[in-house]
Amino acid sequence: MDDVARKHASVRKKVILWYNQHGRSFPWRNTTDSYHILIAEILLRRTTASAVSRVFNDFMNRFDSPTRLAHARESTIVRALSTLGLQTLRAKQLKETASIIVKDWNGEIPKSHESLQSLPGVGNYIASAVRNFAYGESVPLVDGNVIHFISRVFGIQFAGPTDTKAWEFMAPFGGSHKAKLYWGIIDLVAAVCLRRNPRCGVCPLSKVCEWYTKGDTTSETT
Ligand code: SF4
Repeated sequence: MDDVARKHASVRKKVILWYNQHGRSFPWRNTTDSYHILIAEILLRRTTASAVSRVFNDFMNRFDSPTRLAHARESTIVRALSTLGLQTLRAKQLKETASIIVKDWNGEIPKSHESLQSLPGVGNYIASAVRNFAYGESVPLVDGNVIHFISRVFGIQFAGPTDTKAWEFMAPFGGSHKAKLYWGIIDLVAAVCLRRNPRCGVCPLSKVCEWYTKGDTTSETT
């Protein structure tokens, strides 16, 4: 195992251990239901997890299948999402997505990356999230949190979440408990590795973090 692989393994272990103790609990993290996970990931785009968590259970109870969501009035969906913002746009997109799932996929969430990405509002990140969290696959997942985390811990800068090199960099993090690794990164960035004034003193990665150990502040504002 070379130094990079060793560091990947060490970081992975520390993040998962931290997540087991400090990770947040959200309804979409306690299920492998692909419909629930797809809806959660769509709602989480441009919205905080705590805001989504306030409406999620009611939303999923009311629209408990793609069929029910597809047949719901758009105005009813808008009302259910009114506290999240962008509710008109989101309602239209969710209804359209559910209609396609019913019409083209017999009400089942598709499994392949290409099929998932063909749904309205589903890009590379959401397709990968559904594959990881619902289908138990081990595929890389990169968003702004992951980019920030990599830049701090590994001292590597990527152009952004669409940079294919970032996706390649995350691939060796594969293995079991991949969901916990990503949720751990999300929660660490939210609670410890803050963009301003990171709390390095309580961070489980302080011994291996480039930013902390080498005083690399180039990624401070990423
Ligand atoms: S040691 Fe500091 S900069 Fe490094 S990951 Fe932890 S909180 Fe972030």
